[in-house]
Amino acid sequence: MAEAPSTQERVTDIGPPHYEKFLHPLIKKNYGKWLWHEIPRPGVLVHAAESGDKIWTVRGGTARLISVDTLRLYADLADKYADGYMRFTSRNNVEFLLEKEENVQPLIDEMESNGIPVGGTANSVSQIVHTQGWVHCHTSATDASGVVKAVMDDIVEEFRNHRLPNRVRIALACCLNMCGAVHCSDIAILGIHRRPPHVNHENVKNLCEIPTTVASCPTAAIRPTTVDGNPSVEVDEDKCMYCGNCYTTCPAMPLSDPLNDGLSIWVGGKVSNARSNPTFSKMAIPFLPNNPPRWPEVTEAVRTILEAYAKGARNWERIGEWIDRIGWPRFFRETGIEFTKFHIDDFKGASKSLMTTTAFKR
Ligand code: SF4
Ligand code: SF4
Repeated sequence: MAEAPSTQERVTDIGPPHYEKFLHPLIKKNYGKWLWHEIPRPGVLVHAAESGDKIWTVRGGTARLISVDTLRLYADLADKYADGYMRFTSRNNVEFLLEKEENVQPLIDEMESNGIPVGGTANSVSQIVHTQGWVHCHTSATDASGVVKAVMDDIVEEFRNHRLPNRVRIALACCLNMCGAVHCSDIAILGIHRRPPHVNHENVKNLCEIPTTVASCPTAAIRPTTVDGNPSVEVDEDKCMYCGNCYTTCPAMPLSDPLNDGLSIWVGGKVSNARSNPTFSKMAIPFLPNNPPRWPEVTEAVRTILEAYAKGARNWERIGEWIDRIGWPRFFRETGIEFTKFHIDDFKGASKSLMTTTAFKR
């Protein structure tokens, strides 16, 4: 009987191809047999295997949405210096994988001369992971790429060096559905709506199916109603959490509001369980206005938090660990951020639903 095909060989029409197909040959050859790694300079890693093989990684900052020209540039650099091997990290950095150490510096020179900053490793700010923003998603309360570009332009020096107490991971999600990692990043920028969806009763009867629209609301805030003799829906504002789920189902319920949409800033989340448990971010600034194209209020807030952390944290403390040590009130004093009633955490469900860490024991 013929053997069943392996996972790599099996062809399906869903999901990505098996990653092993794209591994660098050196990585494949030494899989599971790597001995050590070090970071000789910001943006460069070297890994050594039991066999004596070494592979160099050069990391550059890039945007999540990139043009065909930029992709071609990356591909040309990969062909020239890295035998065609490159990858993107989960935080949207581009990485080239090199067998020859002598190619590292020429690659760095060519990346920098083409405007690709080299860095993002170890105790630095890595590239900001972000969501779709105004470019693509219908429920966004703010832009994504635009805010990220403005913030990273302002703090790019922290991408290029290792002078921070520990790594700082920044994330942006353009609404509270948070397709980005805002719940578990050191500094998080989160787009927020502050008004419920506006129901366009004229269009409901043409565009929406009422039972599906009512069922789409996670907080049961939508009720069927009749307006001018036509079936429609109404929203209980007290129950609405501005998630935009109904708008996905019913295009006659747009959520965006130029005056009331904006951004909030959260701090102290992390995924790592080194030294302390993984933590969720806590809200530091409840609202900042949308101010394109350079979002100065947001860039200033991120810089302020980063500078206070760099000045006050001990070596290897992440932002959340620094805040835990000095206390939440002192965090506001050190950063000059105003403390408001919105900072008081009165969500009673958290102990049941959110106390989840890899180290959690009842
Ligand atoms: Fe859309 Fe919200 Fe995800 Fe942004 S975070 S891409 S607005 S669902
Ligand atoms: Fe319900 Fe979300 Fe629509 Fe508000 S925005 S009515 S919570 S589905």
